[in-house]
Amino acid sequence: MRREPGRTCLGCRQVREKRALVRLVRRASGEVVADPAGRLPGRGAYVCPDGACLERGLERKRLAHAFRKPCELSEEVRGLWQRQR
Ligand SMILES: [Zn+2]
Repeated sequence: MRREPGRTCLGCRQVREKRALVRLVRRASGEVVADPAGRLPGRGAYVCPDGACLERGLERKRLAHAFRKPCELSEEVRGLWQRQR
């Protein structure tokens, strides 16, 4: 058994170590925020810190599917994505 369970990237669907991915958390308001420290409560989604994965993984449809609820990207997450371009 591996000690560190993998997480699936929303963009490329590859399973990677948790620390290699950016954790996203959906707030009760529906806003999706980045959680680099992994401290926010709630269901997390993960994406590679990579332009292509962010672009695909942060599509609203995909996020809504991952969180099973409508989602809105926070400015912070939008910025993260734009910085990677
Ligand atoms: Zn990826």
